[in-house]
Amino acid sequence: MNKQIAVYPGSFDPITCGHLDIIERGLEIFDEIIIAVARNSEKNSLFSTAERISLIEETFADNPRVTVDTFDGLLVDYVVAKKSRVILRGLRAVSDFEYEFQIAQMNHNLAGKVETLFMMTSVPYGYLSSSIVKEVASLKGSIEGLVPPAVKKALAKKFAKEDSGSNQNQELVRQ
Ligand code: ADP
Repeated sequence: MNKQIAVYPGSFDPITCGHLDIIERGLEIFDEIIIAVARNSEKNSLFSTAERISLIEETFADNPRVTVDTFDGLLVDYVVAKKSRVILRGLRAVSDFEYEFQIAQMNHNLAGKVETLFMMTSVPYGYLSSSIVKEVASLKGSIEGLVPPAVKKALAKKFAKEDSGSNQNQELVRQ
């Protein structure tokens, strides 16, 4: 039997426990999940594409059924090239719905054989997003249990660096 492969696309800036939950539950259904980091999301991101990939790789180092890749261009072309027919996406609040609906319809228009499969978030992660995690981490709030350990470490490093940068700037202002 052919392996059932799902592509889970996103920015993953950075990967959170909400993403992990979707991936772990997706692995109950699919043989393999390809986490596809969108290259066009680089512009406004905190982590570079290479950093985002390496954080995901570190998180799934022990799971051969999860692979990480990047894509640019049309997602449906990438999905077909990977011999998959399924785009996996997560849904949180109602606010996700309209955007996801529009993209799913367009992707279906572009490639009728590719289906978008939505998984509802698990309750603890309903309001968890990469953006909120970055905001809390930048203000030195606790993100324990919201991101995998590699991400927690990377965020602490990122914002420690930024702080020393802004301290330097303050020094410059004082002079
Ligand atoms: P994008 O910029 O494509 O939305 P994200 O990295 O923010 O990329 O999200 C990738 C996918 O994961 C999206 O389908 C998003 O809805 C889903 N997702 C993100 N956070 C959660 C969460 N806490 N619970 C369930 N799904 C989530």
